[in-house]
This record gives sequence, structure tokens and C-alpha cells, in this order.
Amino acid sequence: MITAERKPLSEIMEMVAPYQKVLVLGCGTCVTVCFAGGEKEAKILASELRMASKTQDTPLEVAGFTIQRQCEWEYIDPIREMVEQVDAVVSLACGIGIQAIAERFSDAVVLPGVNTTFLGMPEEAGVFVERCQACGDCVLGTTGTVCPIARCAKSLLNGPCGGSQDGKCEVDPDTDCAWQLIYDRLVKLNQLDLMMKVEPAKDWRTSRDGGQRKIVREDLQL
Ligand code: SF4
Ligand code: SF4
Repeated sequence: MITAERKPLSEIMEMVAPYQKVLVLGCGTCVTVCFAGGEKEAKILASELRMASKTQDTPLEVAGFTIQRQCEWEYIDPIREMVEQVDAVVSLACGIGIQAIAERFSDAVVLPGVNTTFLGMPEEAGVFVERCQACGDCVLGTTGTVCPIARCAKSLLNGPCGGSQDGKCEVDPDTDCAWQLIYDRLVKLNQLDLMMKVEPAKDWRTSRDGGQRKIVREDLQL
């Protein structure tokens, strides 16, 4: 899932300062799971904004609403009227949802209420960890299913770097060395020979950089 963290109230207050009517828009998918921008968080932010603006000459009029996904037109289209009635939308979706709302309602001011952080998973209650950087050329098949790009501090494709101490990363002793994890998994899977495979340097120009990436599935097109 995509993880995010809510922006501080002071930063959001600064963004909405020029406006009078604001819609706080939650998203019912990834940001709900990471407790950053779901229905509950949208209600909380809406009431925080109302209370914080009470000391102003003109308090904000704040509405809160949540849709299932802010990254798909079918969920976005039904809120057109709601968006047209406010001066600004504070989106609590990830960066994709925020941009989708702005693309669909091109006259609307859309502001980010969260900082989108990484592709990860909840490891335990209240702890979210990064697992993938969406590099576009997955190597998990040869790394014991441990991602060296997201989990190694140096994103080494051919590790380890030599600085690992007692299974921990030299950059952060609280974090497991990704290449120790890869080694341990390959031993367990009886695939240690894969450690000797040299992974060629990635062509980041085609797999990652160089502007917006796009997937076209002709079999799904209408
Ligand atoms: S190698 Fe890592 S960053 Fe690339 S797609 Fe696979 S899990 Fe994601
Ligand atoms: S110690 Fe391990 S995780 Fe840290 S940078 Fe070196 S290889 Fe990567």
C-alpha cells in the first residue's frame, strides 16, 4: 500500500488561509489503512480546522467527506457539486489522489493534507515499513524476495557493502542489513548460488527516471 503522514495543522492552516469554504476530502483506501487520511482523519482535521479558525476574524466553513478512492474517476465524479461549492479542497489522499482530484476539477484549488511517504506495509500496530520503490524492473526473484533497493540504505544491487555489523546496517544500527536478510533467505531456500549472480546496473533512464511512466494494457482497453 501507499503510506502517508498527515501534515502538521499549522502547515495546513497556512495553506487554507486565503480561503473561506474548505472541503477536507478523505480517501477510503491506502491512507485509511495507515491512519493518515481516511474518514476518521478527515473528520478530525475538519473539526481541528474549524476550532483553530475560530480565533480568526472570519472562521472557516469546513466540510468533511470521504470517497472510496481518490485515484479513480468513478469515485471522483460524484463529488463534482461538492467541490464546486468550496474555495479549496484539502485532499488527504496520497499524491496520486491529490493530483487526480485536481485533474478532474481543473478550476478547483486542491491542497495536500498529507505527505506521501513510501510503498510499504504495516509491520505491527502503529509501525509501517517501506518494501518497494516501484523501480519498474523487479529483482525479487534473485534476492530471496527481499528488496535491495527499498531496504538497503545504499540500494545496492550487488551487496553487501562490507559495513554490516551483526546483521545490522552500518548506516542505521536499528535496521536490519538488507543483504544479510537476502543471504539468510537464500540459505533457507537452498539458493545461495544466486548470491554469486552479478546483477547488471539498472538503466534508470528507462525503468525509473525520465518523466512519467505509463503502463498500457491493450487487452483492457475499451
Ligand atoms: S526490485 Fe524492489 S523496488 Fe523494484 S519492483 Fe521489486 S520490490 Fe519494488
Ligand atoms: S550494511 Fe547492508 S543494508 Fe546497510 S548499506 Fe551495507 S549492504 Fe546495504
